[in-house]
Amino acid sequence: MSRQTQAIIHADALLQNFKTLAYTAKQSQSMAVIKADAYGHGAVNVARILQHVSSRFAVAIMEEAVALREAGITAPIVVLEGAHQAKECEMAWQYNCILVMHCTEQLQWMQKCEAHKRPHIWLKVDSGMHRLGFPLEHIAQIVEQHQVLITKETTLVTHFASADDPDNDFTQTQMSAFKKSVASLSMPVSLANSPASVNWPSTQAQWNRLGIGIYGGKVTTAEPSESPDSAHLPHLLPAMTLRSSIIALRDIPANESVGYGQTWRATKPSKIATVAIGYADGYPRHCPNGTPVLIRGQRASLVGRVSMDMITIDVTHINNVSVGDVVELWGENISISEVAQHAGTIDYELMTRISSRVPRIVR
Ligand code: PLP
Repeated sequence: MSRQTQAIIHADALLQNFKTLAYTAKQSQSMAVIKADAYGHGAVNVARILQHVSSRFAVAIMEEAVALREAGITAPIVVLEGAHQAKECEMAWQYNCILVMHCTEQLQWMQKCEAHKRPHIWLKVDSGMHRLGFPLEHIAQIVEQHQVLITKETTLVTHFASADDPDNDFTQTQMSAFKKSVASLSMPVSLANSPASVNWPSTQAQWNRLGIGIYGGKVTTAEPSESPDSAHLPHLLPAMTLRSSIIALRDIPANESVGYGQTWRATKPSKIATVAIGYADGYPRHCPNGTPVLIRGQRASLVGRVSMDMITIDVTHINNVSVGDVVELWGENISISEVAQHAGTIDYELMTRISSRVPRIVR
């Protein structure tokens, strides 16, 4: 039996988005970032779909890499947080993973690894995000001191704090500082995530790490209609449609309230549809009255609080609405960014929060 609440994963959209972004960075190689279960889309499925176009994958932690290997994915995997424990160094070698090392303790673990069981490493440099990485001023010395760990594969990586904003020149500041600090080292570099690759093409280097863009999420704060330069913005397709169905309908008189806390009250006689998705499925509890959904090709509004397993929608204006009707929460017609904006969050959080109760159906 298949639940009507489903996340439809669009294989064509994933492929097309990856190719679109990779094509705009022809001088670089691009890898798909499939951490956090491929941003909620299902890491194994996404890896299978993209393995012929993405020659590598990136995940956050070793456990994610091991799960991909166990599912038969063979492409090299870059582990963005490196090793969390010493034993993960040898595991990385065994599973053909590249560890992105960000601190000296991790490098000490590597040095204790038997030489023939050492995985390749990349080195993370902190160019201003101040989250992970060796300080800019130490990187040349770190490389010098750890020559035994450096291979042709060893790439210098940094990550940007505000690359989605084409008007914030902090990306330029980070890039210049990074370039200056690594100028004496002739090593490959990896700078761009998907927002950087789109908004700051000069960040495209040997390797681009593409996440949100391949899922069709928002990569720029520039509004296409507002920006005269928006012609360069890639057309990305939503890779997930989150949908459910109506499980109950009722007519209520004016002045009646709906749901927990009575946060919405009908101003006129209204028809209310109850839909089988709630915050336990990952639909954000913070979505306020007025958050859009799509039913029978028409937009309708969330009314009342999001419950654990259900939401309620005002469908007074929709003709012939029936129990069993499909409801799109986001996807081709309702953009995930619009819902994220209503919920006061970002596309990334909505995608990654879809719970295991929601089957992912690849189309
Ligand atoms: N590189 C690193 C180090 C990351 O942490 C992430 C995602 O958070 C990415 C690349 C992919 O970024 P995006 O999803 O914005 O393309």
